[in-house]
Amino acid sequence: MLGKNEKTISKYNYIMSNLTFGIIKPDAVRAGNAGKIVDRVLSNGFKVRGMKLIHQTRKQAEGFYSVHAGKGFFDELTEFMSSGPCVVLALEKDNAVPAWRELMGATNPAEAAEGTLRKDFASSIGENAVHGSDSDENAAIEIAYFFSKLELV
Ligand code: ADP
Ligand code: MG
Repeated sequence: MLGKNEKTISKYNYIMSNLTFGIIKPDAVRAGNAGKIVDRVLSNGFKVRGMKLIHQTRKQAEGFYSVHAGKGFFDELTEFMSSGPCVVLALEKDNAVPAWRELMGATNPAEAAEGTLRKDFASSIGENAVHGSDSDENAAIEIAYFFSKLELV
């Protein structure tokens, strides 16, 4: 019997080390920084395979972040992520998951390295401008959460 994740992967069948999933979060879109962040995505050698502007419902945000359910910041996080439009991204590059996390910087912008997106655009540990997958398996699941196969170019 397959677990939920294995079913998702076998259904979509695109777990790959050269793809990751990113979000330009509502704080960055509200601040008018989405274009600047997309520019940094491209200038750092990522190819955009999918991109769209969405406004998540609270339920969609709760489903996306279900791994964090029960944590103290879960309500704040899902309220924030459904508070306005965000840009979802399917990104391609060699070793895409670690490459995108390196460009994003640490979760807490106070600890983010110079030149990272969170250093430049995040205002707090909660409202931290961007999301990135933490493994190839989760990248496949997260891409499938927001994109159909036909939407990946
Ligand atoms: P990352 O986004 O770097 O992978 P996590 O997976 O640990 O970080 O957390 C998911 C998101 O939850 C973070 O990007 C941030 O928006 C929020 N978050 C994490 N820790 C906290 C916290 N201590 N207080 C408020 N929000 C938090
Ligand atoms: Mg994470």
